[in-house]
Amino acid sequence: MSVRLTVRSGLVLVAITAPLAPALAQAPVQFTVSNDVSSCLAIRARPQSSAPSIDCLSAGVRVDAVGTAPYWRQIRLQDGRTGWAAKRFLQIVALPPVAPASDERDDAWLEIHVVDVGQGDGIWIHTFDDNIPGNGRYEGYNIIVDGGPSDPTNPLMRYVMSQAHERAAIDALIITHPHNDHYPGAEAILRHFEVREFYDSGSLNSSDWLRFRTRVSAETYRGRPVLQHVGRNTFGSPDWGSELQVRFLYADPGLRNDLGSSGTGTRINNSSIVFRIQYGSQSILFMGDLEGKERDDSAGTLKYGEKFLLDSLGPEALRSTVLKVAHHGSETSSTTRFIDAVDPHHVVVSSGRRPYGRQPNIRFLPDSGTLQRYCNHSDSTRIYRTDQDDEAERRTAANDADGDHVVISMNGQETRIQAYSAGNPITPTACVP
Ligand SMILES: [Zn+2]
Repeated sequence: MSVRLTVRSGLVLVAITAPLAPALAQAPVQFTVSNDVSSCLAIRARPQSSAPSIDCLSAGVRVDAVGTAPYWRQIRLQDGRTGWAAKRFLQIVALPPVAPASDERDDAWLEIHVVDVGQGDGIWIHTFDDNIPGNGRYEGYNIIVDGGPSDPTNPLMRYVMSQAHERAAIDALIITHPHNDHYPGAEAILRHFEVREFYDSGSLNSSDWLRFRTRVSAETYRGRPVLQHVGRNTFGSPDWGSELQVRFLYADPGLRNDLGSSGTGTRINNSSIVFRIQYGSQSILFMGDLEGKERDDSAGTLKYGEKFLLDSLGPEALRSTVLKVAHHGSETSSTTRFIDAVDPHHVVVSSGRRPYGRQPNIRFLPDSGTLQRYCNHSDSTRIYRTDQDDEAERRTAANDADGDHVVISMNGQETRIQAYSAGNPITPTACVP
């Protein structure tokens, strides 16, 4: 796994790629430079638009693809040098005559980057690309789940942009629910990327949210309107490559009375889009801010979204290798019956130093009692947090997005997690609530 650290105006970006696929075992796949390249296609020394250009190829030039990274193909030039080209300007000449034995490959890493956006959620999912576009498998898709809070530095956008390029494609943008720690940051995603499909639970919240929705409706992907899925019955089963089974488990407009109070935001939290990815023997469950009880209820209570999931699907459907924990580790989620059902090996918490409540009862997410429930369930659980060390570093909401990213890599057989504290790799060795 390669790691690049960049410090720009105090914001630490950690750019991680799962092992780049080097020369593939089968014959290289041939591409031509497409006609819609502006004058010529810059070939970069590294898979980043900020990397030096080592050549520029005209439309129609043929190249062999020998490696891959998010948004880029590694190509071999006629003089034998290799460089990186933005994949959207390369068209495949023909599918290889013999399909590679892809079922057994262990280098096909699905990457899930839980980016430190401060208090909120901002996640980038990148599926493996085998350099054979169009056969429905290992297609190198990019999915964004939530965009984090409104922030002029836009950590999620900058994180993805450090590996992508202007107007690069986002295949799906999922806003789990319309709270301001989840969607305002996605405006920057809409500004810098073309979004193919948009997913919305159908929950109506505020005039700001309606403005955001208007913005989505005005965007285009390759000249066509963004395909919008509003409400769970429009979601279907997304095709993010046939190697993955993606299932939307829950989303609700949040109008029902059994989803809690509308005044506290509980009902909006319980409108969250919940989905699960199965990749071979490995799996990950994304919970948005779904809740399971009121703050003062016992951990054995079961209400709201967690009750719906368990009642309608049963525990087996929730069992997952990795859990992106609900609601930033709040006391109102992660009831004991839910934890028993998911039985996660790894728990990832996305949270920051935004204070809640009034003096003397100021608190920050996650709640340690909630994390303790995961350690009580199994002390072999490992907990990874995007607010890693932020309290000890005396960070505030203004500067807590400091590079505490969590990068999950799955190859269908195993899961590896690399966590960071202020940009430095760390390895949790115990279950620490
Ligand atoms: Zn939230």
